[in-house]
Amino acid sequence: MLRFLGTGSAFDAFRCDTSAYFRRGETLFMIDCGSTAFKCALRKRIFEGASRVCIILTHLHMDHCGSLSQLVMYLLYKCGVKPTIVFPDRDVRELLRITGVGPDMYDHIPGRGAELPEGVRVRYMESSHVDTINCYSFELSIPGEGEIYYSGDSGAIPKSVLDKFLAGGYTALYQDTCGERIPGRVHLNIEDLYRIIPQDKRDMVHCIHLDPLLTEEKVRRRGFVPAEL
Ligand SMILES: [Zn+2]
Ligand SMILES: [Zn+2]
Repeated sequence: MLRFLGTGSAFDAFRCDTSAYFRRGETLFMIDCGSTAFKCALRKRIFEGASRVCIILTHLHMDHCGSLSQLVMYLLYKCGVKPTIVFPDRDVRELLRITGVGPDMYDHIPGRGAELPEGVRVRYMESSHVDTINCYSFELSIPGEGEIYYSGDSGAIPKSVLDKFLAGGYTALYQDTCGERIPGRVHLNIEDLYRIIPQDKRDMVHCIHLDPLLTEEKVRRRGFVPAEL
């Protein structure tokens, strides 16, 4: 099960940016590293005892990567850990370069799939979010946990993912869910999620990236699980 440093969306004033983490052995895995994530991670001391850190990114909106540069510098200079950044595109290197993080300060695993430490595997797929940058969802296979789906920011669940979920292929679905009605498929409205997920499967769906119009209580009333700190 993933733990969270923040559960909110970009314009939520009170929740921190959605970012998750889990630990396997001495490896800390982080999913996204938005503007608030680094300081939340420091407060929770999630780096203690970690000899390896893998940061798995979904896309380069700042609520998902805004403190990445700080995190890399902290890990290298204060913890002596050279982090691994997992992201399909090379743009992330440019983002780090212009914020003072050179290519020798981290390892980057590009491409759509990767074998990570501790037997963890990731497989990316394009998500439905915005047209201005590449955005990804991914499947994550975690020994002892099975396979989960993490939507990143996405206004839809791909049919292949939904079919696999309904057939029992995932142990949990983490889905970007909003209360606002936004034109296009930027984020997935909770009522649309409610329509496509049958009742007996709703408690396996964790709602992430919540916006100010969606309360945790409303998520529970619909039968889903709100991501919580
Ligand atoms: Zn976002
Ligand atoms: Zn986004």
